[in-house]
Amino acid sequence: MLSETFTKWIIDGSSKEIMMIALSFFLLNSSKINDLLNEKQTIHFKPILLPNIHEVNWQEFRNEYCKTKIFYFARIMSKYFSKNDLPLFYHNISHLKTSSIILEENYAEYYDVKKNKIFIKEIPAIYHGLFHVASSIDKDGIIFSGFSQSTNLNSIGIGITEGYTELLAERYFGNIKGVKRYYPIETFIMKQIEVVIGKEKMTNFYFHADLLGLMNEFHKYLSKEDSLELIQSMDFLVNHLHTTENLSTEINQHLSFIFQILFKMYWKKLEKDRTLNEELRKMKMAMYQNNLQQSLYEIESFKRFSFLENFQEKKLILMKTNKR
Ligand SMILES: [Zn+2]
Repeated sequence: MLSETFTKWIIDGSSKEIMMIALSFFLLNSSKINDLLNEKQTIHFKPILLPNIHEVNWQEFRNEYCKTKIFYFARIMSKYFSKNDLPLFYHNISHLKTSSIILEENYAEYYDVKKNKIFIKEIPAIYHGLFHVASSIDKDGIIFSGFSQSTNLNSIGIGITEGYTELLAERYFGNIKGVKRYYPIETFIMKQIEVVIGKEKMTNFYFHADLLGLMNEFHKYLSKEDSLELIQSMDFLVNHLHTTENLSTEINQHLSFIFQILFKMYWKKLEKDRTLNEELRKMKMAMYQNNLQQSLYEIESFKRFSFLENFQEKKLILMKTNKR
């Protein structure tokens, strides 16, 4: 088995991408992340696209539904990101198909990655959907989308992907009426994760559909077990928060776990900061926890879950564990 440091070096060395394609399969199958998964599941290396970013042929859109919204999305994206930041967006946009008819009842929009077609029922939801367009590809039988990877057998990372997709939609298009409506809990959690990891890295992993890159980043703050469990807990939430099934006990357990993880990540971030002494670290941690708690109470969707009731207790437990 190769050492972790070597695996990490390979994963970080983006200029050596071609070599990595050949090596990645072997490396990733031997990595510790995958030892934690069941036999059928593997975290794959990010999809590599050959550098063929052409000028987008907007003429193709002449008859497409919602074309002005798509133009607007592209304009905003090109204002904030370079073409190299958005390889999947430029790969998909020229041939993107649109439809106003959506069969799945619960969806406001739906992006079919295989057909590169976006279905829009509620127009403001198009911005959320276009972020999926900007971060998805069907490659070697795997659907890579943001931080998620899905095959016919299983999927991982849907929860963190939906939360981050909505976070981006709200950040760049939140001033439009009707945006800011979906996945409030997942979005809130991803916002906290971004505070630790940083915007630039997070968007880079997202727009390159690089789940493994994100996981490597998580490992700077968490054990591999914890980071995998965080992703799986978010998957549980996205699958069950929005159904009518009553699973509040399980949901509470997952939310409790996730918030403990958020505290751990933030504490580790403070520990890494050499400019802080122990006292300052504790002060900052207490401030972070109080702010987090305060903003949690402002989100309507959290109110129906009891995990908030003993939040204060959990904070104290964590502060004690952090004491040496
Ligand atoms: Zn979505």
